[in-house]
Formats: sequence, structure tokens, C-alpha cells
Amino acid sequence: MATPYNMAFACLSCCKSFKREFDLSQESPKELVCPECGGVAHNFGRHFKSPKKTDTKQWQKIRYLFSHGFRFQKIRIGPGHHDVVPYPDTLEAAREFVEKYKDYAIKYSPRT
Ligand SMILES: [Zn+2]
Repeated sequence: MATPYNMAFACLSCCKSFKREFDLSQESPKELVCPECGGVAHNFGRHFKSPKKTDTKQWQKIRYLFSHGFRFQKIRIGPGHHDVVPYPDTLEAAREFVEKYKDYAIKYSPRT
């Protein structure tokens, strides 16, 4: 039997995240329908830690990172790509982060 794994999805309108289980043989979708608002819940991968719904600053930061192509994918730098860059804690730090690691951003064209 294939090992299941969890992917985190988050709706940036509701400030809510939820997990879905997939088999390793399956590719997880980039988007799901948000169970709260019926809008788009984006795939934030396996490393996403959801802030509290009320923590608007943290959600602002996530929106900012997301819109610049950072979906909590691991960013590996250094010799042999051994070093994983930690994600920023604040919106201010996120601005520097986005600038510094823009080459690692996921190229993403939103649906029209
Ligand atoms: Zn929603």
C-alpha cells in the first residue's frame, strides 16, 4: 500500500487552512475548493504552518509570500543544496526574503 501524505491547503480569503491526504503515487492538485467560502484554497505543501485565523499580520505575510511565488516550498542553498532557508517570521522580513530569493519563486500565473 502506498504511504499517504498530508498536504496543507489554505484559503487566503477566509484565513483558514485544512489538510488533505494523498497517496505518494498521486500528484496533489494546486488548488481545491475552499469548504468555507467556495473560493480557491491553494496548495501550500507539506511544510505549511497555519497561523491563527485572528493573526491578520501573519496571514498578510502569507498572502505577500504567495503572491510572489513562495508557497512554503523548501529553498535549498549552499554547497550540495544542504542548507534550507527558513521562512520569514514577519511581513517586514518577508519583503527582504522575497527580494533575496526571487530566483526560487514559483512562476505562477493566476487564473483569469
Ligand atoms: Zn475560503
